[in-house]
Amino acid sequence: MTLRIYNTLTRTKEDFKPLDPKNVRMYVCGPTVYDFAHIGNARPVIVFDVLYRLLRHLYGVDHVKYVRNITDVDDKINARALERFPGVPLNEAIRKVTETTANQFFADAKALGCLEPDVQPRATEHIAGMVDMISVLINKGNAYVAATNDGGEVLFDVGSMPDYGKLSGRKLEDQQAGARVAVEAHKKNPADFVLWKLSSAEEPGWDSPWGRGRPGWHIECSVMSKASFGEVFDIHGGGLDLIFPHHENEIAQSRCAHGTKVMANYWMHNGFLQVEGQKMSKSLGNFVTISELLDIWPGDVLRAVMLQTHYRVPIDWTEAKCREANTELHNWASVLEGYWSLQTGNPIEIEELIEVLSDDLNSPEAFTVLRKYFYAATSEGHAKTLRFTKACRTLGFSKLGEPGLFDMGVSGSNVGQEALHKVAEIAQGLRATAANVSISSALSRYGDVLSKFEDDGFRVKIAEGGFVKVVGSDFEHTHKVERLVANRLEARAAKDWKESDRIRDELSAMGITIKDNKDGTTTWEVKR
Ligand code: AMP
Ligand code: ZN
Repeated sequence: MTLRIYNTLTRTKEDFKPLDPKNVRMYVCGPTVYDFAHIGNARPVIVFDVLYRLLRHLYGVDHVKYVRNITDVDDKINARALERFPGVPLNEAIRKVTETTANQFFADAKALGCLEPDVQPRATEHIAGMVDMISVLINKGNAYVAATNDGGEVLFDVGSMPDYGKLSGRKLEDQQAGARVAVEAHKKNPADFVLWKLSSAEEPGWDSPWGRGRPGWHIECSVMSKASFGEVFDIHGGGLDLIFPHHENEIAQSRCAHGTKVMANYWMHNGFLQVEGQKMSKSLGNFVTISELLDIWPGDVLRAVMLQTHYRVPIDWTEAKCREANTELHNWASVLEGYWSLQTGNPIEIEELIEVLSDDLNSPEAFTVLRKYFYAATSEGHAKTLRFTKACRTLGFSKLGEPGLFDMGVSGSNVGQEALHKVAEIAQGLRATAANVSISSALSRYGDVLSKFEDDGFRVKIAEGGFVKVVGSDFEHTHKVERLVANRLEARAAKDWKESDRIRDELSAMGITIKDNKDGTTTWEVKR
């Protein structure tokens, strides 16, 4: 099977030919860790996870290396640290901000069903490499030191690179027109960008031949990709907004420092995400974090919504889409129950799925194939269900073995509609927290609400996977329980153990335990 991918560098779909099929290398720009990641940030995380899985399928799990960095040096991080931890020494405050944010990001990615990349380097671990690369660039005449009002900078000299701008298709002359030259008087060319910036005594910094300072953003990725992969590698990915200036400048730095024709052979960019038809922004109040959505929806639902739009097309994120995806996964999970934990090794063919994914990661088509596999599983049984299981796993779904998870309703016994409605409001949050984090977190987060329900005579139970069940004490269904108990006694008298067990299970599902007494009577109670 030939993998074809759209290469931003050539603006065409090309056959993918790795430099070394035994060592396929993919680098994706990761988050700047100063705040919760939003649902837009989840797009590259999910899209490149699917590509990683596909590459592993095509080249073997041991022959693919995926690197996604953590940008933990940035002026936005410094600003956030000062704001959130006033009075704490800056370096310590920065560590607090970056540690908690990075950990939150890892937890989000895991709940979205994403495999961990092979390496997740942090910029702060690579400062020495950055100083080295900047020195090489200065020695080769591609960078220069410039004095500024607030200290000084080392700048990349874009004029020193004849084909600067190839990735984004921007010509240097176009960029000069309209540039605010007066403000940038220390630059040889307005497009020159910062490699190293001197820090004031209060700002974080590292020693360097040009004085104590901090790196620019672009140099980080040139150095981290080189450290993991060497000078040239296969795929470099990220969101559309990174084409210019970030990726353009990464290419300039790496190619000039190493004297190579390319930095990476294939450049892939995901399109943008907007929310309910509008650009996501804090001021519009429609800024949604991954973590907030994971409080409502299982990670698999978010993954399904993301992948039903092709990665290069803009996506409009809506609640309606989440609801639809949830319903579909609910149906799928009902078929996959009992199969999810089974081995689905090599002999099971998922050729059609691999074929559509190999066409520039056509994930919407992958859903068409999955639906076909689903219908075959419902009508043709075992072998087709195994195939469907393998296909769902290949796309990265992780919780389809838990049917209760996608059940939007609340099941209840001995409770009236009103109580169910009351609980339904919190059930969604309980369910998602239980599934995405853990049952104990769900209980601790909703502990107060739950104990209030208990005071009203209800108990809310969460099963594995987050299925929410309410048991009440107003016994409006008592007669149903009594009838089932009587039916069971009749079945036992007729030695119909199968039916007797079935009724016991039905009662158990209603939250009722029964006890067969020595004198032949059966008593029952609401489970505690
Ligand atoms: P940042 O932390 O802003 O550097 O972004 C991390 C990644 O998320 C980058 O690959 C961005 O291109 C991507 N990204 C940010 N916002 C969006 C969005 N609204 N839609 C899609 N991708 C985005
Ligand atoms: Zn980058």
